[in-house]
Amino acid sequence: MEYISTRGGAAALDFEGATLAGLASDGGLYLPREWPRFSRAEIAAFAGLPYAELAARIMQPFVGNCLTPERLRELTHAAYGRFAHKAVTPLRQLDQQHWLLELFHGPTLAFKDVALQLLGLFFEEFLARGEQNLTIVGATSGDTGSAAIDAVAGRAQVDIFMLHPHGRVSDVQRRQMTTVLAPNVHNIAISGTFDDAQAMVKRMFGDPAMTGRFNIGAVNSINWARLMAQVVYYFAAGLQLGAPHRPVAFAVPTGNFGDVFAGYVAAQMGLPIERLIVATNVNDILHRALTSGDYSTGTVTPTAAPSMDIQVSSNFERLLFDLGGRDGAALAAQMAGFETTKAMQLTNAQREGAATLFSSARADADDMSRAIGWAWQKSGELVDPHTAIGLHAARTADIDRSIPVVTLATAHPAKFSDAVERATGQRPPLPVRVGDLFEREERCIELPGDYAAITDYITAHAAPRR
Ligand SMILES: *Cc1c(COP(=O)(O)O)cnc(C)c1O
Repeated sequence: MEYISTRGGAAALDFEGATLAGLASDGGLYLPREWPRFSRAEIAAFAGLPYAELAARIMQPFVGNCLTPERLRELTHAAYGRFAHKAVTPLRQLDQQHWLLELFHGPTLAFKDVALQLLGLFFEEFLARGEQNLTIVGATSGDTGSAAIDAVAGRAQVDIFMLHPHGRVSDVQRRQMTTVLAPNVHNIAISGTFDDAQAMVKRMFGDPAMTGRFNIGAVNSINWARLMAQVVYYFAAGLQLGAPHRPVAFAVPTGNFGDVFAGYVAAQMGLPIERLIVATNVNDILHRALTSGDYSTGTVTPTAAPSMDIQVSSNFERLLFDLGGRDGAALAAQMAGFETTKAMQLTNAQREGAATLFSSARADADDMSRAIGWAWQKSGELVDPHTAIGLHAARTADIDRSIPVVTLATAHPAKFSDAVERATGQRPPLPVRVGDLFEREERCIELPGDYAAITDYITAHAAPRR
């Protein structure tokens, strides 16, 4: 399988190349040249496969001949063997129509582990082949950072520099990053927002002073391999609820549009998805874009769901490219306009294309608390604030009652225990697998949200390319 950039100005790469490159050199994002498609009979035959087997089958067409089927299976078994639940991503029923897809049984308690545990293994595999090293630079609103650090800490040939917005991540989120003391891990707290951090990271990929000296790699969902790994759990949930014979709807707590884009990919591959419900908090650029075509940023408001406090959703570009006829030059012009004015209008093709599969909803703080309370009272489940926003969207969406609606439970409630306790009076305990997080030493540097300060720091601490 070949990968092309959404902005049409970078060479096509194979899966290995796209995984190591992260962002394309023209500022675009990589996508497979075409969507692989499974027939109904092929999907039906996936029923009952263990998660790691299903993952290997679904990803093989994307990986092409960069990994043999046997090697890919070894890697999926290694990655998912670290999850605390045998089903990896178990489903739980809330009521007649509503289900939770629990994606938080990995080492750092959020869905980011599902993709990053595997991505860490892909990096190791591909870097060993080329005797290269990789300087990973990432921005995190909380969960990507800990999951990426867990996946690469102590691995040879990799340095990781993780930027998080100072004071805007939860204590558990911060400690899961800063208490990892492996010498290849560098935590940087910047003054500013997640969007500021993400913009600086993207800038580095196009900065010859950095790309000339380092092989810069990405762990954010701008990296295609992450989205590919997330496609799998849409199939896993769909199969359990009757796919391919019955459609399923999904409600997805959304920030950078990565998780829900993986659902879009599952639909392109043949999974019958009735609707993808994009759930946002008050940082609602995506809700506005999907309802009125107006994709314009506002200022970021901090909320109890910090992983969704985002006003520039990188992966939305992938959807706009696919819906707009895959015209790289046109999309590059549209994105250049957005980067100057911080606003753009979707074209008719983009709006109408999105409306066939996506709907959206916005939840404020009260909606979120009420949804946490509903899950607790209705079925004794404690859900985290991100999941609650998804649940609010699921319950207010207009979906035929015969169709199951699956809300993606993106984080463990203990990761955001204060908000959960406020809504239910119950304080969810941290699972034993995270150990003595609050006793451990922290290591982190604070830097101004200033491009030169960040690149100077990385230049002084990263191993040069080889
Ligand atoms: C990252 C994250 C999200 C948002 O996912 P995107 O792929 O960025 O849309 C939602 N909830 C939690 C808990 C997260 O960590």
